[in-house]
Amino acid sequence: MSTISELKELLAHPRQIFITTHHKPDADALGSSLGLAGYLRKKGHSVTVVTPSDYPNFLAWMPGNEEVVVYEPTENDAQVREIIGTAEVLFCLDFSCLGRINELGEYIRQAPGTKVLIDHHQEPEQFADLDYSNSKAAATAELVFEVIRDLGDQDLIDTGIGECLYAGIMTDTGSFRHPSTSRNVHLIIAELLNAGINLSDVHRRIYDSHSEERLRFLGFVLKDKLTVLREYNTAYIAITADELRQYHSKTGDTEGLVNFALSIEGIVFAAILIDRTQAVKISFRSVGDFSVSEFSRRHFNGGGHHNAAGGISHEPLQATVDRFLSLLPDYQTKLVTAPLAAAPP
Ligand code: 5GP
Ligand code: MN
Repeated sequence: MSTISELKELLAHPRQIFITTHHKPDADALGSSLGLAGYLRKKGHSVTVVTPSDYPNFLAWMPGNEEVVVYEPTENDAQVREIIGTAEVLFCLDFSCLGRINELGEYIRQAPGTKVLIDHHQEPEQFADLDYSNSKAAATAELVFEVIRDLGDQDLIDTGIGECLYAGIMTDTGSFRHPSTSRNVHLIIAELLNAGINLSDVHRRIYDSHSEERLRFLGFVLKDKLTVLREYNTAYIAITADELRQYHSKTGDTEGLVNFALSIEGIVFAAILIDRTQAVKISFRSVGDFSVSEFSRRHFNGGGHHNAAGGISHEPLQATVDRFLSLLPDYQTKLVTAPLAAAPP
C-alpha cells in the first residue's frame, strides 16, 4: 500500500489523467471512475475516462457520463492508444489484473505514465507504481472516498461526485446487506448525505428503471431456467444465446439475476452461466464460508471476492454446465448452510 503523500505529490501540478475500469462496468466501476474524475477536474487536472466496453443504460445518469470514451477496437483504437500513451497519470479502478481489460491492459502496461491502482479485489497483480488496494473494502467507491478525504479535499465532494460514489457502495454491498457493510461504510454514507446526495433517487435510477421486457425475461428465467440442487445447497441458471436474443436482452439486463438463486432458503452457492457467443460468462455468489473467488480462480479462470466472483469458459454452454455440475461433489462438505446468529432475546 502506498502512502497518500506520494499521490499528493504526483497531483501537485495539473496533469493529463487517464482513468479506466473493468470490462462491462457496473455501478462501482463507473461510479468510482466518474466520482474520481469529477474530483480531479475540480482540482484543475485534465481527465479522460475510458471504459473497455459499453455499460448499462441505468448508469448513464452519472455526472461525467457524456465525456466517457467507450473503447471500440475497430473504431477508436488509435485515439485511445494516444490518450493512454500521453497520460501522465493512469488510474485503474475496480479491477486487479490488466488481463481483464483485453487490449487496453497491454497499452496500459506499456504506457510511460505513473500507474495508480485503487481496487478491492483479492490477489491484485503488481503492475501499479502506486497501490491503494484493500480487499477488505466493500467497494472501490469507498476507497476513492477515502483517497479524496486523505488528500484533504473532502469538501470538494459535491452532490454529483457523492452520488457516483454512493451508487458504487450501495450496489457492491447489495444495498448494505453483505458482510462487507462495515461501520466505516455507514460513516462514509453519512458524510455523503452531508454533501447533499439523494439516496432514494440513486436507488430508483439503478434498480427501478428497467424495461418491461427485462422484467418478462426475469419471469422466464425464474420459471424455466432455474435449477435447485438440494444435495449441494446450490442453485444455478444457464441461459443460451438464443434466449438472450429472444428477449432482446441488453447490456445490464442479466445483472442481479444470480441473486434470486441465492435468495432461496438454505442455498449457499449460486451460479449463472450465460452464453455470450464468444465465451460463456459465469457469475458466482455464496453466503458464508464457501469462497467463490477461490472456486472461480481454480476452475473458471476467474476471481473476485469471497462471496461474489466471476469467471469464463471457452467450452460450449452445455459442456460448461456439465463441468460445473461435475465439480460439486468435491465441494459437498463445504457447501453447508451458514447458521444464523441466535436471535436476540
Ligand atoms: P459479476 O458476477 O458481478 O460480474 O462479478 C462479481 C465480482 O467478480 C466482481 O467484483 C468482478 O469484478 C469479479 N469478476 C467477474 N468476472 C471476473 C473474471 O472473469 N475474472 C476475475 N478475476 N474477476 C471477475
Ligand atoms: Mn467493485
